[in-house]
Amino acid sequence: MRIALGDLRHRTLGRHSVLMPLGIGLIASYLKKNMQKEVDIRLYEDPTKLLREINIWKPGIIGLSNYMWNAELNRFIFSYAKQHLRDVVCVAGGPEFPVDMEECKEFLDKRPEIDFYSFLEGEIVFANLVEKICDGIFCEDLKGTPLEGILSIHPENKTLVAGEFSRITNLDTIPSPYLSGIMDQWFDGHYIPSVQTARGCPFTCTYCRASNKFYSKIVMFDLQRVRNELTYIAERMVSLSVDGLYVLDSNFGLFERDELIAQHIGKLQDKYNWPNSIMADTSKDNYPRVLRMAKEMRNAMQPLCSVQTRNSQTLRVTKRSNLPREEYTESQSQLIKQGMVPATELIVPLPHETLDSFIDGLKEIIGAGVENITTFTWMLLPGTQLASKKSREKYKINSRFRIIPRQFGEYGGQKCFEIEEVCCGTSSMSIQEYIQCRGFAFLCFLFARSQYEIIQKHLSDFSLNIFDLIKSIFDKMDKTQSAFSRLYQDLLKETHDELFATKEDVYRFMSRQKNYNKLLRGEIGDNLFRRYLSMILCNGFSSSVGIAYESLIELIDTDQSDVRNSLYDAKKWFLAVGNISKIFHDEQIIFEKSKELKLSYDVLKWYKDYEPNTRLDNYKRENTLCLYYEKKEDIFSLMTSFKNLYGKDPYFRIGKALVDHDPRDFWASSRYKF
Ligand code: SF4
Repeated sequence: MRIALGDLRHRTLGRHSVLMPLGIGLIASYLKKNMQKEVDIRLYEDPTKLLREINIWKPGIIGLSNYMWNAELNRFIFSYAKQHLRDVVCVAGGPEFPVDMEECKEFLDKRPEIDFYSFLEGEIVFANLVEKICDGIFCEDLKGTPLEGILSIHPENKTLVAGEFSRITNLDTIPSPYLSGIMDQWFDGHYIPSVQTARGCPFTCTYCRASNKFYSKIVMFDLQRVRNELTYIAERMVSLSVDGLYVLDSNFGLFERDELIAQHIGKLQDKYNWPNSIMADTSKDNYPRVLRMAKEMRNAMQPLCSVQTRNSQTLRVTKRSNLPREEYTESQSQLIKQGMVPATELIVPLPHETLDSFIDGLKEIIGAGVENITTFTWMLLPGTQLASKKSREKYKINSRFRIIPRQFGEYGGQKCFEIEEVCCGTSSMSIQEYIQCRGFAFLCFLFARSQYEIIQKHLSDFSLNIFDLIKSIFDKMDKTQSAFSRLYQDLLKETHDELFATKEDVYRFMSRQKNYNKLLRGEIGDNLFRRYLSMILCNGFSSSVGIAYESLIELIDTDQSDVRNSLYDAKKWFLAVGNISKIFHDEQIIFEKSKELKLSYDVLKWYKDYEPNTRLDNYKRENTLCLYYEKKEDIFSLMTSFKNLYGKDPYFRIGKALVDHDPRDFWASSRYKF
C-alpha cells in the first residue's frame, strides 16, 4: 500500500512554518513499526510535489495534517486526488477541527472529499485504519463502522459515525522518527528541527485548544530517548547554517526533568556549537526553573512570561492566573540580570477588556521592564470554550474573517486562501477601540524593544519611563507628518481593512486579479505588526528616532543647551549604528570600509559603560568614531540562513529574524579613532 503523508505549507510567499514536519514523522514511524502488511510511506511538505506524485506514484491513502494555515489547501489536494485516483482514501487529522459533535458533522458534511477524520491523537488510530484498508475492507463499509479515534459520515444514513477516544498513555510505543532516519530528508538547511518531550497541558485557558480535558494529563517521552534525539539532531545540524531548535511542549520547564533536558542541550552547545536559538513555550508556573534552564543553555532560550491580559475580570473568564505584580516585576528583573530580553504576549480584545484596561495592562508590563511585547488579535478557535455560541452571545463577540498572513496560492488554476476568524469587538470594546488598542500595542512593540534601548537609557537618566514616552508619541501620531507617522496611519487602516464579514467575502476580494497581485507583492495579507516593524526599520527608521527624541525632549522639558546637544549627538550615533535595513537589503555593506562619525559627546563610553543616572551631558568630549561591522562572517552566514528559511523579501526576513534575534546583533560597531 502506498501512503502519502503531508504537513503542507503554501510556498507562494514564504512558508508559514519552517519546522521539520515532526507530526507526520511520528505517524510514519508508528506505521512502519506496527504494520503487518507492506507499506510504502512518503512524507510531503511541498504541496506541488505531492500534486505531481498523485499522478505519478498514485498513493492509495493520503493523510494530511489539518492546521489553520493549510486547511483549505488540504481540501484542494483531497479533491484533486479524488478526481484523479479512483479508490484513494483521504484521511485528515489535526487541530483545525471542531470538538462539538454537531459541528464536527457540519464540518465533514461540507467536505465530502474527506473520508475519515482522525480526532485528537493520530498515530495509533491512523495505523489501525490503514491496517483495515490493507485487509481489503471497503472504505464505504469502514465509514459506516465506529472506529477508535475516527469520525466519518455514514454513507447511507448520513449520520456522524464516531468511535471511542483515548489518550496514548505510553508515548514510547511510537518510535522516534529522528532515530529511525525518517526525518533525515529535512536536514538540508531549509528547516528548523523540533522535538516534543511531553504531550498535554494541565491548564484550562478557555481560548486555547490545548485546554480540552482530553489533553489535561501530561504524558512524556522517555528522557534518554529525548537526549538521543537531540544528539542525533545536533550531529546533523553542525554542518548546516541553521542555528534554531523548537521544543513543542505546551509548558517547557514545568517538570524537574526539563532541567535535565536543558543540561543536555547545554552539553550539545559546548560540543557542536548548536543550537544557538531555542524557541519554546515556557512554563510560568516555575519561573526560577525556567531561568536556570535558560542559563544551562547559554541563555539561547527566550523565557516567555505570557500574561495575555492584566485585567482581573478577563482573567477570571479565561480561567488564567498571572503572577502578582511584584513577583512579575522581580521575575523580569532576574531575567534582565541574566542578560536576556524579557518578553510577553497579550491577546486583544478578550471579554471585559476595555481600551483603558488594555493600556493600563501595557503600562504595568512595560513598567516591569518587558521589551518584547507581542499583541495578538484574539482568534476564535473552533472547539474552544470562549468561541462557543453561548460565549459569543454573552460577550457580544463581534467576529470578522481575515487571511492568514501569506497563506495562499494558486493550484491547478484555482486560487486558495487560508482564513481565520478573529474577534474585533465585544460588549466592552468597540471596533474603533480595538484598532486604537492595536495602534498603542504596536508602538509598545516597536519602542520597548532593545533596538530603541538608547532612548530608555536617556529616560532612566531623567527619571522618566518608557510608557510615558510611548503615550506621548501615541497622542501626537495623528498630528504629525513624517514617513513614520504615515506608516503608522497605514498600519491602522490595514488593521481595519483586513477584516471581512464572511469567509466568502475574503475569497471574493482576494480572488480579484488586482487584489491577488497585491497579495503576491506582499502589499496586503501579511502579518501587520511584523511587516510594519520591518518597514519602519527600513523606510521610517530615521523619523521614528526623530519622534522618539522629540517626545523625549518635551518630557525632559529643559532649556539647558548641554542636555539638548548631547541628545542630538546620541541621536546621530544611534542613526549611524542602528540602521539594520542596510544589512538586510545589501549585506555587501558589511565588507565595505569603515566610516567616520564626529561627535562632541562621548556617546560610546556612556552607552557601553552605562550606569543609571549618568547623563550623557556629563560626557562632553570631542571624539571621532570609526563605524564598522564586527564578526562579518557570522552576520553573513546568518543572512544566508535567513534567505534559505524565509525567502527573498527583505521585509519578511527582517520580521522573522527579529523574532529570535536581538536587533543589536545587526548593528554596526564603533571604536575611537585616535
Ligand atoms: S494557553 Fe498554554 S497553558 Fe493555557 S491551555 Fe493553552 S497550552 Fe495550556
